[in-house]
Amino acid sequence: MKKGQEYIGTIEEMKFPNKGIVNYEEVREDGVITTKVTIPGGILGQKIKFLLTKKKSKKCEGRVIDILEKSQYEDKNPVCPKFGICGGCTYQTMSYGNQLEVKKNMVKSILDEVIKEDYDFQGIIGSPEELEYRNKMEYSFGDQYKGGELCLGLHKKGSFYDIVNTNECKIVNDDYNRILDVILEYFKSQNIPYYHKMSKEGYLRHVLIRRARRTGEIIIAIVTTTTMDVDFKILCDRLLELNLLGDIVGIMHIYNDGLADMVRSDKTEILYGRDYIYEEILGLKFKISLFSFFQTNSLGAEKLYEKAREYVGETKDKLVFDLYSGTGTITQMLAKVAKKVVGVEIIEEAVDAAKENADLNGLENCDFYAGDVLKVIDEIEDKPDLIVLDPPRDGINPHALDKIINYGVERMVYISCKPTSLARDLIVLQERGYKVLKACAVDMFPGTYHVETVCLLSKKP
Ligand code: SAH
Repeated sequence: MKKGQEYIGTIEEMKFPNKGIVNYEEVREDGVITTKVTIPGGILGQKIKFLLTKKKSKKCEGRVIDILEKSQYEDKNPVCPKFGICGGCTYQTMSYGNQLEVKKNMVKSILDEVIKEDYDFQGIIGSPEELEYRNKMEYSFGDQYKGGELCLGLHKKGSFYDIVNTNECKIVNDDYNRILDVILEYFKSQNIPYYHKMSKEGYLRHVLIRRARRTGEIIIAIVTTTTMDVDFKILCDRLLELNLLGDIVGIMHIYNDGLADMVRSDKTEILYGRDYIYEEILGLKFKISLFSFFQTNSLGAEKLYEKAREYVGETKDKLVFDLYSGTGTITQMLAKVAKKVVGVEIIEEAVDAAKENADLNGLENCDFYAGDVLKVIDEIEDKPDLIVLDPPRDGINPHALDKIINYGVERMVYISCKPTSLARDLIVLQERGYKVLKACAVDMFPGTYHVETVCLLSKKP
């Protein structure tokens, strides 16, 4: 095979995240040579024409040019007109049942590779809602092609710069789309420029929207640089005049002159209402501020937490650690049934919210610590009987994992948003005396390749 040439092949395997594998066979004088080519976005069973974009001894990569035959899993037309262009969704040509099948198999094969003894793989739990499930979105201002008109939406598939208008997005409630329309129309009519990531010039950067699934409360934040003086009064009025299903409870203007392409705040100005929403899950109430972590699919999170609670098991007289606790959702769910729960979370704002939430829910047996798990666990005097882990995508820092294992607790429940990081940590946990008893995938992100996994580990006698 040669880089830059086109080939035809069939996707024989799918690997997390979003990679199809073609085993390309070449008949040569010295025999048949098989080359493994990774095709981003390839779906099991598709016959494709692809361009070989990378060829190294260990790694070959290709890009789909044409789908010659659909996969047997592709039994549906995409629900969104921007599918294929927008970088948000990947799996809209598959019915939800097929998406779940594909995700389940990907998670199982990752776990099977590292779990050395028999364990109970309990399949996958689907999201209660296939569409309109997201309670948070981050949009960018930009243009769809260089010099094009102002756009507001998500990044174009595979592009760092180009933005696609996503005002027909189906994984959010239509309120999001109506809000985007108003904001985009307003700034277009005022001829206000977006911030160019390359030249570092311009004004409009991002829009962040949070909408609680159960309460319908909405907050909107418009992120700009400080390079212009724009009056937001008319825009606020137009937003508040919208006839939405939910209620706008707050509008903010965030100033960000940082160079990185991420939503952060140098200064936040509340233009209307308040800078948080209330959401309800598992009968508990949560105050969610603009930046604190909260699972993006509220009803899906209930499924995930219920599974985690089942795995945690009997907690009546136990002291539980909830490490990487975010706004304290798991901490509080367990506080209702445990002696005491200790949450540790690095984002101070999330810890403040967690404390406030615990008060709101009348829970007195939980403590929260702000800081890095790696350092904070040295300062906590309590010793856990059980530990729940829910780290970010990269998994657990090896030194932190070492300290966690040294507690020697009887059971741990590990929740992971990236099964490959989980697999890496499971290798260490097994080497250090833990056995995986059960695992279950939970889908909170229909239409995309993301998937959560919950694992129950117990200490070997
Ligand atoms: N359990 C929570 C949050 C899980 S997401 C929930 O279900 O809502 C992972 C969380 O880990 C995030 O809130 C992130 O801010 C936090 N985090 C990331 N690195 C951390 C570290 N080194 N120490 C403590 N918390 C960390």
